Amino acid sequence: MSDCIFCKIAAHEIPSTCAYEDDQIYAFHDLDPQAPVHVLIIPKKHIASLDEAQAGDAQLLAHMMLMVKEIAASLGLEKGYRVVINTGEDGGQTVPHLHMHLLGKRSLNWPPG
Ligand code: AMP
Ligand code: ZN
Repeated sequence: MSDCIFCKIAAHEIPSTCAYEDDQIYAFHDLDPQAPVHVLIIPKKHIASLDEAQAGDAQLLAHMMLMVKEIAASLGLEKGYRVVINTGEDGGQTVPHLHMHLLGKRSLNWPPG
């Protein structure tokens, strides 16, 4: 999607600090980190939110989920981590391109705000 900031980041049209990349997904460090490690994992395909995902995206979503542990290991998150998908207005989503937050390297509170 031409005016989507995360599509542009995935296409390397806007700079970011890469944590992982393959043909389907891109992971990069959040500009405003909420933990010592805060990475965003996005599909290269534009999907506006989890609410917009379709059955045909199942393999892509599974790939994103299964790569989390690899990315977490590469970032030294052996003590654990949290994965968050903010969805829609009440979910606190501010960028309308599906992304998973991977947070770690500190003890995280529950429940979230
Ligand atoms: P959300 O509020 O769940 O939609 O998360 C959007 C996240 O994207 C926030 O944590 C922002 O700090 C982050 N963000 C926005 N623009 C950029 C950018 N250009 N590079 C890295 N992270 C970004
Ligand atoms: Zn996009």
